Amino acid sequence: AAAPAKPAAKKVARPNVRQTKMLIGGHWVDSESGKTFPTFHPATEEKIADVARATEKDVDRAVKAARKAFEGEWSKMDARDRGRLLSRLADIIEANKDELAALETLDNGKPIKDAMTADVPLVIDTFRYYAGWADKLTGQTIPVRGNFFSYSRREPVGVVGQIIPWNFPALMVSWKWAPALAAGCTIVMKPAEQTPLSCLRMAEWAIEAGFPPGVINVVTGFGDAGAALVKHPDVDKIAFTGSTETGQIIMKEAANTLKRVTLELGGKSPNIILADADLDAAVAGTDFGLFFNQGQCCCAGSRVFVEKKIHEQFVEKLVERANARKFGIGDPFDLETVQGPQIDKDQFDKIMSYIGKGKEAGAKCVTGGGRSGDKGFYIEPTVFDHVSDDMPIATDEIFGPVMSILPFKDVDEAVQRGNKTFYGLAAAVWTKDIAKAHAIAHKLRAGTVWVNCYDVFDAAAPFGGYKMSGIGRELGEAALSNYTEHKTVTVSLGG
Ligand code: ADP
Repeated sequence: AAAPAKPAAKKVARPNVRQTKMLIGGHWVDSESGKTFPTFHPATEEKIADVARATEKDVDRAVKAARKAFEGEWSKMDARDRGRLLSRLADIIEANKDELAALETLDNGKPIKDAMTADVPLVIDTFRYYAGWADKLTGQTIPVRGNFFSYSRREPVGVVGQIIPWNFPALMVSWKWAPALAAGCTIVMKPAEQTPLSCLRMAEWAIEAGFPPGVINVVTGFGDAGAALVKHPDVDKIAFTGSTETGQIIMKEAANTLKRVTLELGGKSPNIILADADLDAAVAGTDFGLFFNQGQCCCAGSRVFVEKKIHEQFVEKLVERANARKFGIGDPFDLETVQGPQIDKDQFDKIMSYIGKGKEAGAKCVTGGGRSGDKGFYIEPTVFDHVSDDMPIATDEIFGPVMSILPFKDVDEAVQRGNKTFYGLAAAVWTKDIAKAHAIAHKLRAGTVWVNCYDVFDAAAPFGGYKMSGIGRELGEAALSNYTEHKTVTVSLGG
């Protein structure tokens, strides 16, 4: 008898691209220069669309529109009504969630299933969470000496420039817009040149939700447009997510106008597995912690410290899992795909060069190590074993599906080696010993520590870096302080 036919792959349809112009002062406009730039689908390397390319003049127009909105209708709106707009935006995104997920997959190449189950639900949750904060930013009454009444107000910082990367395009929009809008700021956003499409669609939904013209402006373009935003004297604050190198440039430039700056930058996060951990859970979490999103996460668990006693067993199971993942490499619109392509050729080349450096340095490549297929920027899930702390694959952020395993003997050594990095974004520890888990979590110099889990995000839980991983925290109550000034008002009570 004939073998049963393999069921047809379940594919999601490619979305139509509706918006390729910029949003300035409530109008959809071309660049004043008439210039555009192409955006590509990383799985096929085909051009998707040409998008308006912002110049310094466009950025200036957008900043003026944001200033006008800040001084106009927006500042007079009741805080609770700002919250209602955020809720409405969440509802509209929810009603269009499949379209948003498909746009992310088209522009970024991430598996549609990830976009549907991770990115988009978190986007919606972030807007809902901050909708509730808009009318809860209260000040204090302050017991000063003398016959005075002193109180403080939380006021919006003003016009904020927001610059985001390409790895979680829509999610980064929500992390940036939601707290800024809750606080009463107005926005000029520059999405990444690789992935402008979901941001533009979300801006259309923001207009539909009723945000007044100029409250949200989007300028699409390259680093020069971002730089123009950072330089602009009428921008009060810059919120940036991206590479540490660009973060350093931004911070220096922002010093000229003393803008407030928050930065969410790179990482080289330690993931520490103790011998008493639930091995299968640790293997699954380690695999997810590095390979999720093709390894393109600033918090990727890229340095995996494994206690020597279980090292061999752990690596064996991990390699099995990574090998299984290879079968899930494919068309990101296929619902069964678990790994898509890297974002572009630059990233692809950079990652391949690190794989070369790992081999050269003498680390043992136990699986992967090559390109997958011959079209699209696909790279095999790659695991290096017996990596030592000073190899480039252990010190540098690779931002791809390349894991380094570093065996250790005792826990203090693991913590000390884990902290031996300029970065400090995230860390994880796997153990059944609750006291050890907390003790290690307290010693790790990182903004987030996951215990027996990895990449668990919530709109309410602050996220950000120690050391060169950044300044400030996004999400949670903490993010609101990025977008507010404290004003003290002191009133003479006479006499
Ligand atoms: P990546 O290397 O991952 O692309 P970048 O930090 O270069 O990360 O880019 C993140 C964002 O910063 C993108 O939107 C990019 O256009 C923008 N950008 C790049 N260079 C600059 C710069 N000098 N000033 C402001 N923004 C920039």
